[in-house]
Formats: sequence, structure tokens, C-alpha cells
Amino acid sequence: MTAHTYRGHYARKRFGQHFLHDPCIIESIIHAIQPKYGEVMIEIGPGLGALTEKIGRVLDKLTVIEIDHDLTLRLKYHSFLQTKLTVFEQDALEFDFSQFAKQQTQLLRVFGNLPYNISTPLIFHLFKHINIIHDMHFMLQEEVVNRLVAKPGNKSYGRLSVMAQYYCKIFPILTVPSQSFVPPPNVISKIVRLIPITHVQTLPHHVYFLSLVTTAAFNKRRKTLRNSLSHLIPTQALVNMHICPTLRAENISVMQYCQLADWLGNHLKNKKANVVSIKYN
Ligand code: SAM
Repeated sequence: MTAHTYRGHYARKRFGQHFLHDPCIIESIIHAIQPKYGEVMIEIGPGLGALTEKIGRVLDKLTVIEIDHDLTLRLKYHSFLQTKLTVFEQDALEFDFSQFAKQQTQLLRVFGNLPYNISTPLIFHLFKHINIIHDMHFMLQEEVVNRLVAKPGNKSYGRLSVMAQYYCKIFPILTVPSQSFVPPPNVISKIVRLIPITHVQTLPHHVYFLSLVTTAAFNKRRKTLRNSLSHLIPTQALVNMHICPTLRAENISVMQYCQLADWLGNHLKNKKANVVSIKYN
């Protein structure tokens, strides 16, 4: 084993490959996920199977999404997993989870030691399919987990925090040192559990407008809301909602962002043509 080769596979940097090799950490992750026979589970980035093998022993079937052809090949010929696995060799960012869920009788349990270079866009991608997800367990950079759980006033509080806390209850579970991987990443990692909030499916919050308003506010996070939102929401409307116009993006709560989104949604109901498309980031 060299620094970048593990079990005969050369770790590809462009795919964010850091393979888990610490048995204690692997056991702790499985314990946190608690897989049960019959559940519909889907793993993003199974790699060399550190989690897949353990979880595959418990389940009757398991679906994995892996971009690296060399790794999918191994999984397809894996001694005991091959009969249980459905392997999608593709970019998880383009995977249609809702389409997949149509063939299932249960909500999906999604997990993975995510490639760090795509973890944030992948989380946003999964939010688009939140209605068909039971829970998610991910290994992420500690810094991303800090952003997920950050509260107003915290330097990590941003658009990811607002959107994630709107969609999910978030529980950091376990800190994972870099020595637990081959090759070791330069950062500390954390396991986090995200449980979709069921009322998200029914509350009349306008997700589209929530995304729009958070993008506008945090793109100009050093400006006051009066300025950063001036093209969307007049100062008087902020005052009417008891949101101080001189506050900055990082100072207002998820509920207040929902209030802004609702106002914007109602206000623009008949003017959708004016609304620019949202870029997820
Ligand atoms: N699960 C394995 C483990 O814990 O040892 C590997 C984790 S490694 C950090 C990330 C895995 O995600 C790699 O196997 C990599 O090839 C895969 N991957 C990277 N980008 C991907 C993408 N866009 N879609 C699907 N899989 C991807």
C-alpha cells in the first residue's frame, strides 16, 4: 500500500477518493445508521465498499451510485454483494432520486462518505427530492457540518444553514480524524444525520422564493437587508414584518427567511416572469 493506493486501487483525486479503513469508525457509522432488513437504502459513492459490505450483510438488496468505472466493476463482481447490489454507474448529481423512488414501496434511506468536492451541491440536489427521503447519513468535512447547523450570528451561518434547517433536523454524530482514511484528507470529517421535517411537504412556504431570497441576502452578506434585498422587498415591507432593515443576512432566523419568502411569493404571484432563475450552489 502506498500513500495513494489502497487494495489495489489508485485513489483518484478528481473523484474525491479517500477510503475509510478504520474498523472502529466503520462500526460506529453502521451503528449510527442502524440499517434494517427490508429497508430501501441507497449509497452515494460506495468506493471500495467499506460501508457497503457491512450494510449489505444486513439488507436483502442495496442500491449504490458510483461514478468511477473501476470501482463499479469491482462491486459488480463482489463475492457476496453482487447478488444484492443494484449499481448505477453515474454522477450522483444527475441521479433522479424521485424517479427511483417510484419503483419502491418505502421512503429512501440515503447514506455515503461523500466526495468533498461535490458535497454541498449534492445536498442541495437531495433537497429537491426531500419528499421521498426518510433520512440521510453523510460523512462531510467538519466545516460543512458546522455550516449545516450554524445559527444566526455565527460566522458559519449562510444559505446552506437556512435551506438545510428549513428542510431537515440535523444531528452531528461523530468526529472522524483524517487518519481513518487512505489517503488521509487535509481536513477533519464528521458524520451527520439529516431527518426531513415532515411539515415541509405541507407548509405553504414558497421554497422557490426561499431560495431566491437567501441567495440575494447571502450573496451580499456584508450589506444590510435593506440594500441586499432592495430589488425584491421594499424596506417598508421588512419593517411591517418586524425585520429590522439594518440587519445583515447572517442576523435573521430561518423562520424570518420563510416570512420573507412568503411575502415575496404572495407579492410576485402574478409577476413570475420577472423572477430570475435560481442557481443552486
Ligand atoms: N464509501 C467509500 C469509503 O467510505 O471508503 C468511498 C468514499 S470516497 C470519499 C467518495 C466516493 O464517491 C468515491 O468512491 C468516488 O469515486 C465517488 N464519487 C465521486 N464523485 C462522485 C459522483 N459525482 N457521483 C457518484 N460517486 C462519486
